[in-house]
Amino acid sequence: MKCCVCKGEIEKKYSPEGKMYWDSGNNAQPLAEGRCCDKCDCMLVIPMRMGLTGDRAIATGVQLWLMREGETNENTKDE
Ligand SMILES: [Zn+2]
Repeated sequence: MKCCVCKGEIEKKYSPEGKMYWDSGNNAQPLAEGRCCDKCDCMLVIPMRMGLTGDRAIATGVQLWLMREGETNENTKDE
């Protein structure tokens, strides 16, 4: 599945057991119609929903993205 914002491949999520449980990305509204990848969700869609613009939107986006990356690593830590 492709991200409707950056046209990249939407990342697949795996459970700690290695089962793929989610590959449909995130709702891209109000930025775009369709589904978007985690990066676009954090960096663009959520800041837009929060009504942030400019530097504040970017700072919030980076923060959200780092948090989500951390969660992913948390899930894959103990194998
Ligand atoms: Zn994207």
